[in-house]
Amino acid sequence: MSADPQAVAIALATWYPENARSLPWRDDPRPYPVLLSELMLQQTRIDTAIPYFHRFLARWPTIQALAGATEDEVLEAWAGLGYYSRARNLLKCAKLAAEEGLPSDPAALRRLPGIGPYTAGAVASIAYGVRAGVVDGNVERVLSRLDAREADPRSTAGKRALWQRVEDLHRVHTGHPGDLNQALMELGATVCTPRSPRCLACPVERLCEARKTGRETQLPIKAKKKPPRPVYAVAGLLRRQGQVLMGQRPKSGLLAGLWEPIGTDLPGLEDAGSGLQSGFLSRCGLAVEVGPRLGEVVHVFTHRRLTCWVYAIDRWEGEPRLGEGYIDLAWSDGSDLALSSLARKILALGAVPQMTLPLGRDVTAVAKT
Ligand code: SF4
Repeated sequence: MSADPQAVAIALATWYPENARSLPWRDDPRPYPVLLSELMLQQTRIDTAIPYFHRFLARWPTIQALAGATEDEVLEAWAGLGYYSRARNLLKCAKLAAEEGLPSDPAALRRLPGIGPYTAGAVASIAYGVRAGVVDGNVERVLSRLDAREADPRSTAGKRALWQRVEDLHRVHTGHPGDLNQALMELGATVCTPRSPRCLACPVERLCEARKTGRETQLPIKAKKKPPRPVYAVAGLLRRQGQVLMGQRPKSGLLAGLWEPIGTDLPGLEDAGSGLQSGFLSRCGLAVEVGPRLGEVVHVFTHRRLTCWVYAIDRWEGEPRLGEGYIDLAWSDGSDLALSSLARKILALGAVPQMTLPLGRDVTAVAKT
């Protein structure tokens, strides 16, 4: 049974102003900062996102300023947040909205790259006061418990019912639509938490069906996710004067456009050393001697769990020359390039004494073919 929407909306409207955390984007609810924060907060914790949010606004204070940035600049500023398609989509949105600003209509927002129903609802309601709902993980949990919903909130029927429920709340809510959405999300983030909901501090406790039946922590019911598929790779740290030879990945696909120490995928648990030698030869034209193993890095993508073995490169012959798999090569200590967090972990394993020496001649420049 669903609790009365009006009673829920009133309880949230009273609770939110007194309990909302102070967050930088709440102090600046213009469309661009709201969009920036919403994109950053997808898959990223608030504490991690806050310094990036400040840095972006200091460097590109308006959407017009951001529209003038290059993709490399934006990726570099985003480096470490992961899920880089968000950064590329942010830049595309800025370029499309530079002249007229971001639209206020949720349907028009959804036509922009990378903006789904959640982000469109958040920008429209928070920045423009449009009556548009949002359903994120926090809202899913709060509403599933409030109404003791049995349906998996990620199933088609479960999703549809939750969006409908949020719309019903907006129909009877008389305050700012952005506040209602943020109240639901804030309640899920700070009170109705996944494992230890603080029901005694909850503004909708007396309305909550899960609370009445003691099922707070049993809901929502979610289908088990498939475990990520194991995949393998190998990378080599070829060093010269404190810098490492790096490759830039293609502009589309996984970790698109980001830089990494030279490496290659392995089909399975085969010999990593010979795989790395072939990778160096085909990707940058170098014959290398593989040195000691420095360690391994495990990185979980959405559906894959990558194990990457990292080796020092003791010696090499030839000059780096762009081959297959990368679109550019450079010597760098990593500070001036857009790196994935995976590449940062790999480079961190190389924080050991200088070990790579050229065999024969030194390499002074990276040649491209
Ligand atoms: Fe969540 Fe408890 Fe509030 Fe129900 S009463 S919405 S379970 S915190």
